[in-house]
Amino acid sequence: MSKFSRIAEILAEDGIVGPAGFHPAVPASESWLERAHDPAYVQRILTGTATRAEEKAIGFAVDARVTQRSLHATGGTVVAARLALEHGLACNTAGGSHHAGPHGGAGFSVFNDVAVAAATLIADGDVQRCLVFDCDVHQGDGTARIFAQDPAVYTLSIHCARNYPTDKATSDRDVALPDGVVDAAYLALLPALLTQSFAAAAPDIVFYNAGVDPHMDDRLGRLSLSDGGLAERDRRVIGFFRERGIPVVGVIGGGYSRDIDALARRHTILHRVATEFR
Ligand SMILES: [Zn+2]
Repeated sequence: MSKFSRIAEILAEDGIVGPAGFHPAVPASESWLERAHDPAYVQRILTGTATRAEEKAIGFAVDARVTQRSLHATGGTVVAARLALEHGLACNTAGGSHHAGPHGGAGFSVFNDVAVAAATLIADGDVQRCLVFDCDVHQGDGTARIFAQDPAVYTLSIHCARNYPTDKATSDRDVALPDGVVDAAYLALLPALLTQSFAAAAPDIVFYNAGVDPHMDDRLGRLSLSDGGLAERDRRVIGFFRERGIPVVGVIGGGYSRDIDALARRHTILHRVATEFR
């Protein structure tokens, strides 16, 4: 959890965020959350009455602090999405909790921020169609389930086959990789996936989950990308859609290490690459 504040510090220290500072996140409203999640589940989280089974699925106790963090991370992705519509590209310093599904949280995800933001933009009439381009090493199963019956949101997930969750969902496009994939093989997949998902989704906005857990040093990932490989991945994904005038929302996704400083720095690759498109 301490990685989030460290990410913000590093972005400020390194001048990635200018003197004007961050656009502050707002807490997600109940009506936003209910566009992606069962209202009864949302109520239990908001009132601090999540069941033991729900906390077990999420992987930690949901206390008031965790709830506030989840509400702001989710609201941050909504803010970033609106900024992306205005400026073309915006990145959250959190977000990408893609295991939360229609009926509840899972896998360190209380609310599915990308699903909430996509559904909110559509409900508000800001966009008609969304593409979720998910490069976190774990399948975006929650997102896939939330939008399984919704043709307005196209979900793509590039993940490691032998990784959480064991019970995979069905995205519009799933790319399940074997263990140990390195930079060149990973990057070689992107052109066709970008072209095909863009054609199939015809998106008004793209949500990009830039999880850093495919990194070779990640504790959970099982893939073998380098820092340079992650940067090139981010550059190709963002660049493809920006060249076509499609707004892009970046979220940080997963990353797991006991070295918080190294991990936070790895997450800021997304924001550093994003500055190339200013
Ligand atoms: Zn992950």
